[in-house]
Amino acid sequence: MADFLGARPLPHTVSVKQRNWLSNISFELVVEKPRDFTFLPGQKVLIEKAEVQREYSLACSPDAKDLHFCIRFLAEGTLSTILAEVQPGAKLKISEAYGFFIYRPGNAIFIATGTGIAPFVAYAQSGIQGFLLLHGVASVEDLYFRQIVEKAAKHYVPCLSDEDPGRVQEAGGIVGRVTEYLAKSLSSGVYDFYLCGNGAMIGEATCLIDRNFPDSRVFTESFFSG
Ligand SMILES: Cc1cc2nc3c(=O)[nH]c(=O)nc-3n(C[C@H](O)[C@H](O)[C@H](O)COP(=O)(O)OP(=O)(O)OC[C@H]3O[C@@H](n4cnc5c(N)ncnc54)[C@H](O)[C@@H]3O)c2cc1C
Repeated sequence: MADFLGARPLPHTVSVKQRNWLSNISFELVVEKPRDFTFLPGQKVLIEKAEVQREYSLACSPDAKDLHFCIRFLAEGTLSTILAEVQPGAKLKISEAYGFFIYRPGNAIFIATGTGIAPFVAYAQSGIQGFLLLHGVASVEDLYFRQIVEKAAKHYVPCLSDEDPGRVQEAGGIVGRVTEYLAKSLSSGVYDFYLCGNGAMIGEATCLIDRNFPDSRVFTESFFSG
Protein backbone atom coordinates (compact mmCIF):
# COMPACT_ATOMS: atom_id res chain seq x y z
CA MET A 1 0.00 0.00 0.00
CA ALA A 2 2.85 2.40 0.83
CA ASP A 3 4.13 2.12 -2.75
CA PHE A 4 0.69 2.83 -4.15
CA LEU A 5 0.23 5.86 -1.88
CA GLY A 6 3.74 7.06 -2.69
CA ALA A 7 2.95 6.92 -6.38
CA ARG A 8 0.08 9.40 -6.10
CA PRO A 9 1.13 12.99 -6.79
CA LEU A 10 0.36 15.71 -4.24
CA PRO A 11 0.22 18.77 -6.48
CA HIS A 12 -1.41 21.20 -4.00
CA THR A 13 0.29 23.08 -1.17
CA VAL A 14 -2.43 24.52 1.04
CA SER A 15 -2.58 26.55 4.24
CA VAL A 16 -4.30 25.38 7.38
CA LYS A 17 -7.14 27.74 8.29
CA GLN A 18 -8.39 26.17 11.51
CA ARG A 19 -7.95 23.19 13.77
CA ASN A 20 -10.88 22.68 16.12
CA TRP A 21 -11.14 19.95 18.73
CA LEU A 22 -14.45 18.12 18.35
CA SER A 23 -13.92 15.93 21.43
CA ASN A 24 -10.88 14.93 23.44
CA ILE A 25 -9.93 12.36 20.77
CA SER A 26 -10.94 13.97 17.48
CA PHE A 27 -10.45 17.27 15.71
CA GLU A 28 -11.59 19.05 12.60
CA LEU A 29 -8.96 20.38 10.24
CA VAL A 30 -9.99 23.13 7.86
CA VAL A 31 -7.64 23.91 4.98
CA GLU A 32 -7.86 26.25 2.04
CA LYS A 33 -9.35 24.79 -1.11
CA PRO A 34 -7.04 24.89 -4.11
CA ARG A 35 -8.34 26.71 -7.15
CA ASP A 36 -10.37 24.38 -9.43
CA PHE A 37 -10.27 21.56 -6.86
CA THR A 38 -13.30 19.28 -7.38
CA PHE A 39 -14.49 16.10 -5.72
CA LEU A 40 -17.50 13.87 -5.21
CA PRO A 41 -18.99 13.45 -1.71
CA GLY A 42 -17.40 10.33 -0.22
CA GLN A 43 -13.99 10.83 -1.81
CA LYS A 44 -10.70 11.24 0.03
CA VAL A 45 -7.30 12.84 -0.44
CA LEU A 46 -3.76 12.08 0.60
CA ILE A 47 -2.41 14.62 3.09
CA GLU A 48 1.35 15.04 3.55
CA LYS A 49 3.18 16.82 6.33
CA ALA A 50 6.80 16.31 7.43
CA GLU A 51 7.17 13.76 4.60
CA VAL A 52 4.46 11.51 6.05
CA GLN A 53 1.38 10.75 3.94
CA ARG A 54 -1.99 9.35 5.01
CA GLU A 55 -5.46 9.23 3.47
CA TYR A 56 -8.33 11.32 4.85
CA SER A 57 -11.97 11.52 3.74
CA LEU A 58 -13.37 14.91 2.89
CA ALA A 59 -16.01 15.95 5.45
CA CYS A 60 -17.72 18.75 3.55
CA SER A 61 -19.71 19.40 0.42
CA PRO A 62 -17.92 20.05 -2.89
CA ASP A 63 -19.47 23.55 -2.75
CA ALA A 64 -17.85 24.43 0.58
CA LYS A 65 -15.44 27.35 0.57
CA ASP A 66 -12.72 25.35 2.37
CA LEU A 67 -11.85 21.67 2.73
CA HIS A 68 -12.83 20.03 6.02
CA PHE A 69 -11.46 16.86 7.58
CA CYS A 70 -12.44 14.98 10.71
CA ILE A 71 -9.39 13.29 12.22
CA ARG A 72 -8.91 10.91 15.13
CA PHE A 73 -5.93 11.78 17.36
CA LEU A 74 -3.90 8.64 18.01
CA ALA A 75 -1.41 9.16 20.84
CA GLU A 76 0.99 6.69 19.16
CA GLY A 77 0.18 7.84 15.64
CA THR A 78 2.62 9.53 13.27
CA LEU A 79 0.66 11.98 11.11
CA SER A 80 -2.43 12.40 13.30
CA THR A 81 -0.24 13.71 16.13
CA ILE A 82 1.50 16.14 13.77
CA LEU A 83 -1.83 17.38 12.37
CA ALA A 84 -3.23 17.76 15.88
CA GLU A 85 -0.52 20.37 16.53
CA VAL A 86 -0.67 22.40 13.32
CA GLN A 87 -1.46 26.09 13.63
CA PRO A 88 -3.33 28.35 11.19
CA GLY A 89 -0.98 29.24 8.33
CA ALA A 90 0.92 25.93 8.41
CA LYS A 91 1.41 24.38 4.98
CA LEU A 92 0.29 20.88 3.96
CA LYS A 93 0.45 19.05 0.67
CA ILE A 94 -2.66 17.34 -0.66
CA SER A 95 -3.46 15.14 -3.64
CA GLU A 96 -6.43 15.43 -5.94
CA ALA A 97 -9.57 13.72 -4.59
CA TYR A 98 -10.11 10.07 -5.50
CA GLY A 99 -12.03 6.98 -4.45
CA PHE A 100 -15.27 5.15 -5.07
CA PHE A 101 -17.21 5.48 -1.79
CA ILE A 102 -19.87 7.35 -3.71
CA TYR A 103 -23.59 7.42 -2.92
CA ARG A 104 -25.99 5.70 -5.34
CA PRO A 105 -29.69 6.51 -4.85
CA GLY A 106 -31.41 3.66 -2.99
CA ASN A 107 -32.67 2.43 0.37
CA ALA A 108 -29.53 3.60 2.16
CA ILE A 109 -28.21 2.69 5.57
CA PHE A 110 -25.03 4.51 6.57
CA ILE A 111 -22.90 2.97 9.31
CA ALA A 112 -19.92 4.81 10.78
CA THR A 113 -17.53 4.25 13.63
CA GLY A 114 -15.73 7.29 15.04
CA THR A 115 -14.30 9.60 12.38
CA GLY A 116 -15.84 7.25 9.79
CA ILE A 117 -18.69 9.76 9.96
CA ALA A 118 -16.64 12.02 7.61
CA PRO A 119 -18.00 10.85 4.22
CA PHE A 120 -21.56 10.86 5.60
CA VAL A 121 -21.10 14.50 6.62
CA ALA A 122 -20.09 15.14 3.00
CA TYR A 123 -23.20 13.30 1.76
CA ALA A 124 -25.51 15.18 4.16
CA GLN A 125 -24.00 18.55 3.26
CA SER A 126 -24.41 17.76 -0.42
CA GLY A 127 -28.20 17.31 -0.10
CA ILE A 128 -28.46 13.53 0.34
CA GLN A 129 -31.38 12.87 2.68
CA GLY A 130 -33.72 10.23 4.09
CA PHE A 131 -31.17 7.62 5.17
CA LEU A 132 -30.80 5.66 8.38
CA LEU A 133 -27.47 6.48 10.02
CA LEU A 134 -25.84 4.50 12.83
CA HIS A 135 -22.88 6.28 14.45
CA GLY A 136 -20.82 4.06 16.73
CA VAL A 137 -18.67 5.85 19.29
CA ALA A 138 -17.62 5.33 22.90
CA SER A 139 -19.35 8.29 24.53
CA VAL A 140 -21.81 11.10 23.88
CA GLU A 141 -18.96 13.64 23.47
CA ASP A 142 -17.85 11.80 20.33
CA LEU A 143 -21.14 12.40 18.48
CA TYR A 144 -19.60 15.29 16.56
CA PHE A 145 -21.41 16.55 13.45
CA ARG A 146 -24.64 15.20 14.93
CA GLN A 147 -26.66 18.30 13.98
CA ILE A 148 -25.57 18.13 10.35
CA VAL A 149 -26.24 14.44 9.77
CA GLU A 150 -29.35 14.21 11.94
CA LYS A 151 -31.06 16.99 9.98
CA ALA A 152 -30.60 15.08 6.72
CA ALA A 153 -31.34 11.61 8.13
CA LYS A 154 -34.73 9.90 8.33
CA HIS A 155 -33.44 8.20 11.44
CA TYR A 156 -30.18 8.76 13.34
CA VAL A 157 -29.09 6.28 15.98
CA PRO A 158 -26.09 6.96 18.24
CA CYS A 159 -24.62 3.58 19.26
CA LEU A 160 -22.68 4.18 22.48
CA SER A 161 -20.37 1.42 23.59
CA ASP A 162 -18.94 2.94 26.78
CA GLU A 163 -21.49 5.35 28.17
CA ASP A 164 -23.71 5.70 31.21
CA PRO A 165 -27.19 4.31 30.35
CA GLY A 166 -28.86 7.55 31.53
CA ARG A 167 -26.77 9.62 29.11
CA VAL A 168 -27.47 7.12 26.30
CA GLN A 169 -31.19 7.56 26.88
CA GLU A 170 -30.86 11.35 26.93
CA ALA A 171 -28.97 11.18 23.62
CA GLY A 172 -31.73 9.02 22.08
CA GLY A 173 -29.24 6.26 21.41
CA ILE A 174 -28.66 2.62 22.22
CA VAL A 175 -26.13 1.00 24.52
CA GLY A 176 -23.82 -1.10 22.37
CA ARG A 177 -22.09 -1.27 19.03
CA VAL A 178 -23.49 -0.62 15.57
CA THR A 179 -23.29 -4.35 14.85
CA GLU A 180 -25.62 -5.05 17.80
CA TYR A 181 -28.20 -2.69 16.31
CA LEU A 182 -27.83 -4.48 12.96
CA ALA A 183 -28.22 -7.89 14.55
CA LYS A 184 -31.14 -7.09 16.84
CA SER A 185 -33.03 -3.98 15.78
CA LEU A 186 -33.00 -3.47 12.02
CA SER A 187 -36.17 -4.70 10.26
CA SER A 188 -35.63 -7.25 7.55
CA GLY A 189 -35.40 -5.79 4.08
CA VAL A 190 -33.16 -5.12 1.13
CA TYR A 191 -30.84 -2.19 1.68
CA ASP A 192 -27.76 -0.43 0.35
CA PHE A 193 -25.33 -0.48 3.26
CA TYR A 194 -22.45 2.02 3.38
CA LEU A 195 -19.89 1.07 6.02
CA CYS A 196 -17.05 3.39 7.02
CA GLY A 197 -14.42 3.37 9.75
CA ASN A 198 -12.95 0.49 11.71
CA GLY A 199 -12.10 -2.51 9.50
CA ALA A 200 -13.18 -4.98 12.19
CA MET A 201 -16.66 -3.40 12.28
CA ILE A 202 -16.83 -3.57 8.48
CA GLY A 203 -15.91 -7.27 8.50
CA GLU A 204 -18.43 -8.13 11.22
CA ALA A 205 -21.21 -6.02 9.70
CA THR A 206 -20.64 -7.54 6.25
CA CYS A 207 -21.06 -11.06 7.69
CA LEU A 208 -24.27 -10.02 9.49
CA ILE A 209 -25.65 -8.39 6.34
CA ASP A 210 -24.80 -11.47 4.30
CA ARG A 211 -26.74 -13.63 6.75
CA ASN A 212 -29.70 -11.37 7.64
CA PHE A 213 -30.30 -9.03 4.70
CA PRO A 214 -30.07 -11.09 1.51
CA ASP A 215 -29.94 -9.23 -1.81
CA SER A 216 -28.65 -6.09 -0.10
CA ARG A 217 -25.59 -4.27 -1.44
CA VAL A 218 -22.56 -3.30 0.65
CA PHE A 219 -20.14 -0.44 -0.04
CA THR A 220 -17.16 -0.01 2.25
CA GLU A 221 -14.40 2.43 3.20
CA SER A 222 -12.03 0.92 5.76
CA PHE A 223 -9.84 3.41 7.66
CA PHE A 224 -7.71 0.82 9.44
CA SER A 225 -7.80 -2.86 10.30
CA GLY A 226 -8.74 -3.00 13.96
C1 LIG B 1 -9.42 5.43 2.67
C2 LIG B 1 -9.05 5.95 4.04
C3 LIG B 1 -9.66 7.10 4.53
C4 LIG B 1 -9.34 7.56 5.81
N1 LIG B 1 -9.99 8.66 6.30
C5 LIG B 1 -9.76 9.03 7.58
C6 LIG B 1 -10.49 10.13 8.16
O1 LIG B 1 -11.31 10.80 7.49
N2 LIG B 1 -10.26 10.43 9.46
C7 LIG B 1 -9.34 9.72 10.22
O2 LIG B 1 -9.18 10.04 11.42
N3 LIG B 1 -8.63 8.71 9.70
C8 LIG B 1 -8.80 8.36 8.41
N4 LIG B 1 -8.07 7.34 7.87
C9 LIG B 1 -6.95 6.78 8.68
C10 LIG B 1 -5.69 7.62 8.38
O3 LIG B 1 -5.28 7.45 7.03
C11 LIG B 1 -4.50 7.21 9.26
O4 LIG B 1 -4.31 5.82 9.19
C12 LIG B 1 -4.71 7.60 10.72
O5 LIG B 1 -4.85 9.03 10.85
C13 LIG B 1 -3.51 7.16 11.56
O6 LIG B 1 -2.34 7.70 11.00
P1 LIG B 1 -1.09 8.01 11.93
O7 LIG B 1 0.05 8.34 11.02
O8 LIG B 1 -1.43 8.99 13.00
O9 LIG B 1 -0.87 6.61 12.66
P2 LIG B 1 0.20 5.47 12.26
O10 LIG B 1 1.53 5.88 12.70
O11 LIG B 1 -0.01 5.15 10.83
O12 LIG B 1 -0.26 4.21 13.12
C14 LIG B 1 -1.36 4.18 13.97
C15 LIG B 1 -1.94 2.78 14.17
O13 LIG B 1 -3.30 2.99 14.52
C16 LIG B 1 -4.19 2.35 13.59
N5 LIG B 1 -5.30 3.27 13.32
C17 LIG B 1 -5.49 4.07 12.23
N6 LIG B 1 -6.63 4.79 12.36
C18 LIG B 1 -7.15 4.44 13.55
C19 LIG B 1 -8.31 4.84 14.27
N7 LIG B 1 -9.18 5.74 13.77
N8 LIG B 1 -8.54 4.30 15.49
C20 LIG B 1 -7.69 3.40 16.03
N9 LIG B 1 -6.57 2.96 15.40
C21 LIG B 1 -6.32 3.47 14.18
C22 LIG B 1 -3.36 2.05 12.36
O14 LIG B 1 -3.88 0.87 11.75
C23 LIG B 1 -1.96 1.88 12.93
O15 LIG B 1 -1.80 0.55 13.39
C24 LIG B 1 -8.37 6.86 6.60
C25 LIG B 1 -7.74 5.73 6.07
C26 LIG B 1 -8.06 5.27 4.82
C27 LIG B 1 -7.38 4.02 4.30
